[in-house]
Amino acid sequence: MTTTNPITHSATDSNSDQSPSTQPKSAQPRSVSFLGLGAMGHHMAKHLVNSFDTVMVWNRSFDKAETHAAEFGTLAVSLEQAVMADVIFSCLPTSNVVDNIIDQALPHLSANTVWVDCTSGVPEQAKASQAKLKAVGCEFLDAPVSGQTSGADSGTLTVMVGGSADALAYAKPAIDCFAGLIVHVGDSGAGFAVKAVNNTLFAINAWAAAEGLSVLKAHGVNPSDALACINKASGQSFATLATFPDRIVNRVFPKTFTIDLMAKDCGIAIDLQTEKQVPTPVMAQVASLIRAASNQNQPGDADFSEFAKFYEMMSGITIQDE
Ligand code: NDP
Repeated sequence: MTTTNPITHSATDSNSDQSPSTQPKSAQPRSVSFLGLGAMGHHMAKHLVNSFDTVMVWNRSFDKAETHAAEFGTLAVSLEQAVMADVIFSCLPTSNVVDNIIDQALPHLSANTVWVDCTSGVPEQAKASQAKLKAVGCEFLDAPVSGQTSGADSGTLTVMVGGSADALAYAKPAIDCFAGLIVHVGDSGAGFAVKAVNNTLFAINAWAAAEGLSVLKAHGVNPSDALACINKASGQSFATLATFPDRIVNRVFPKTFTIDLMAKDCGIAIDLQTEKQVPTPVMAQVASLIRAASNQNQPGDADFSEFAKFYEMMSGITIQDE
């Protein structure tokens, strides 16, 4: 594909002029924008500053965009302006939200724009988004991320990309700004698929650890002592290394990744296995349990680690040291 887009700004413009101006096309992206300054997007967008002539941000609640601009020197703009960038990032709750934004953006997109969607989304929706964007001469990459808000803050996220290799090559200098690892895993939808399965594996490990630690506590072993052994032994996982000590055993449950988003990801993985009729009894069971735990709270109200509270209601054992 041709790797150009007509809309660019100077760095000075980015803080003073809210109107994008037309400049000659360039072989490298010169303007980028970020849609969705939530727990992840807020951090991801800040790493784009100083690498491009223009870094625009947009958020549904516009005050967050203005705060971002004031804090990091980005340019808070309307959605219409944001989607004039050479590379557009989105990081939103679901593919449905992204689809709605794409529909609003379509009349304003310039040919050859690359839309990089970092949402944890639905693979079929990535194919539909790619078809919509292709029809107006643009490209869509599904590029979900892993690494939690701490990885977004430090710019070390793992990015799993589905879509065209040429589009990825064009957008890569922008993705590099917040990535520790970028892997092109296949065609449209492959990135979303890998992300959904990854999070389901995380949920399985976390649920299993909750069971194991509860059995041990029932036999008089404190969870912290058990974790000290497990985390230097073969039963370790990200859940035992980070989630249990940092969120559950200390009863902090910091709200950085909500359980409704985790339930969504597990549901996407189950749709994938159903589509291909792959038997996955463990994935299906844990996805259902995470959905049940999520249903205890309003969307957005509880961290994913609060699945442990749901399990504690079942077991009658609190995963906390005596
Ligand atoms: P948040 O809930 O913190 O932020 C959601 C963002 O989407 C906000 O900017 C919000 O705007 C916006 N938004 C919500 N609904 C709409 C809508 N209908 N139209 C327009 N904008 C909307 O989510 P996260 O940042 O935690 O997650 C974003 C994505 O990243 C999800 O797909 C999640 O699964 C994934 N992810 C999250 C991780 C984490 O640790 N949090 C880790 C890896 C991936 P407003 O401010 O107006 O509410």
